[in-house]
Amino acid sequence: MCNSGFPLVVDIKRDSLEDGPGIRTVVFFKGCPLRCTFCHSPETQDPKIDIAFSERKCLGCTRCADSCPQGAIDLSTTQRINRVKCTRCSQCVGICPGKALRRIGRFYPVDSLVEILMRDLPFYRHSGGGVTLSGGECTLYPKYLESLVKSLKARHVHIVLETCGYFNFDVFSRRILPYIDLIYYDVKIADPGTHSKHTGKTNEKILDNLRRLLLEKPAVVCPRIPLIPDITATVENLSAIVGLLVEAGAENVSLLPYNPMGIEMAVNLGRPKPHLPEKFMSPDEEKEIHDTFQMALKANNERQDSRFTSVSLTDKRRSREWKQKTSRSI
Ligand code: SF4
Ligand code: SF4
Repeated sequence: MCNSGFPLVVDIKRDSLEDGPGIRTVVFFKGCPLRCTFCHSPETQDPKIDIAFSERKCLGCTRCADSCPQGAIDLSTTQRINRVKCTRCSQCVGICPGKALRRIGRFYPVDSLVEILMRDLPFYRHSGGGVTLSGGECTLYPKYLESLVKSLKARHVHIVLETCGYFNFDVFSRRILPYIDLIYYDVKIADPGTHSKHTGKTNEKILDNLRRLLLEKPAVVCPRIPLIPDITATVENLSAIVGLLVEAGAENVSLLPYNPMGIEMAVNLGRPKPHLPEKFMSPDEEKEIHDTFQMALKANNERQDSRFTSVSLTDKRRSREWKQKTSRSI
């Protein structure tokens, strides 16, 4: 499917504690207008179905090669799938005994998705939680999303939207925004040229949309900065982002510590291994960056009026460990 209105879903994760207030169910949509070199979920970038191959799970049984109608499986290579020949038909996936081959992307009619999301309504009610729409970039599908958020809001569900900010503001504000309670808005790189180098797009539209949202305040907006060593987590970039956020009238920001989990997935999708650190940041590194950001903010506040009330560091690692023990993915 393409981005013409029929989004594919990568995953539906229940019991999330890190994607908004309370206990939440998170829908990860497939397809994104950006191509971040540091993406921690590269399987969400392409709007079409992906076939992932995990070498460490492969039992070497050769069944996939026997079943592929395109002759796209080459057992002598570590990547296994010839991505030029592969039509993503998924025939090899079902017969793989080691679950080394995985189809990524499934379409849910809105009614089916709402039915799944409503299963945890008692948890939302008791915890002050709800549904989080994530990706990829869910705003790529305004018609579908409008129908989804209208239906959820009619059932009094709290809705969080996570976005990279690269959307058509008028369409977004007309179709989606009236139903959203909280927006997590990624701000990655301040310099337009560097932004383009690392994401495939310049940041003018993203920053314009953020300014309009903060000015019009139709929902609570929380800017977030993913901390990528040597790319976004530099003194220069963080200082420049502070300036942009203060100027835009932001009142808070979350810093998201680096997550290396996209490296293995990029390889599983047959892409070159990204040149990124393979470990999470240490608590000391996280604190150092937090302090750097606070200092930049303080320096900025001395120069101009700022409405900033909080800078938070989201400890995803602790909640991820918890989630691995308890989560129920659909
Ligand atoms: S079918 Fe699965 S386990 Fe068997 S060789 Fe292919 S990828 Fe490996
Ligand atoms: S998805 Fe289809 S074409 Fe691609 S490797 Fe598997 S069987 Fe072959």
